[in-house]
Amino acid sequence: MAGYDDRDGKIWLDGQLVEWRDAQVHELSHALHYASSVFEGERCYGGKIFKSREHSERLLQSGRLIDFEIPYTVDEIEAAKEATLKANGLTDAYVRAFAWRGAGEDMGVASARNPVRMAVAVWSWGNYDGDAKMKGAKLDVSKWKRPSPETIPSHAKAAGLYMICTLSKHAAEAKGCSDAMMFDYRGYVAEATGANIFFVKDGEVHTPKPDCFLNGLTRQTVIGMLEDRQVKVHERHIMPEELESFQQCWLTGTAAEVTPVGQIGDYNFEVGSLTRDIAEGYEQLVRT
Ligand code: PMP
Repeated sequence: MAGYDDRDGKIWLDGQLVEWRDAQVHELSHALHYASSVFEGERCYGGKIFKSREHSERLLQSGRLIDFEIPYTVDEIEAAKEATLKANGLTDAYVRAFAWRGAGEDMGVASARNPVRMAVAVWSWGNYDGDAKMKGAKLDVSKWKRPSPETIPSHAKAAGLYMICTLSKHAAEAKGCSDAMMFDYRGYVAEATGANIFFVKDGEVHTPKPDCFLNGLTRQTVIGMLEDRQVKVHERHIMPEELESFQQCWLTGTAAEVTPVGQIGDYNFEVGSLTRDIAEGYEQLVRT
């Protein structure tokens, strides 16, 4: 497979569709040096992007949280995503919408004089972790902690927050794991590197309270599905020693969808009936 910079197709860049290989930025783009960048990961199923407007709204909100205003409205972003899917002839695709501080008069830490730029790229992307859907993913335990909201705007989907995720995932992959679970700065269970986490104990569901990490759209959808099924959901702080008492575990995220987890470090979980029911239910929901 060719690299992501070397493909056929079109990318939407600053209001226009350009050839995939021509969608380039200058080396002195502020984002490349200081992480002034925000993004969305979305999935289009059968021609419809799941929770498309919510993703566009979150993109604008992430920009504001890192001090920039993306120069497009939600409707314009919606149109950009539709146009990009159409130009690439895709109905089932991953959609990456992103915005960043480009190159401009500023090359120091401050960036107010540099333009905010935006792009949308789409591509075919199958299961996040194909095998895990059946057997349960194997997760490492990261040594990196999700930071306090006083350290960084933790609720932005911003590039800077992913540095520790990349480090965690590299360490996980080196141990034969597909992802890593992260604790937060207080020591509570937080999430995986790009997905939220749920546990099942005696028929009830426990999931970390998203007070220092992204309250994922998939997470919110799955909580709604559980409530529809009259399953009790506890959103709360979860201590590491509780991991031993949970019977099932899954991850949620746009890319991960609902991915069963079989192992986190030394703890094992079964891919049980509630996990399977929610995974299948989610697959149906996104296609309706
Ligand atoms: N946490 C992190 C760190 C993520 O990158 C993602 C993926 N966007 C999520 C949680 C899940 O968010 P969503 O369900 O909105 O995709």
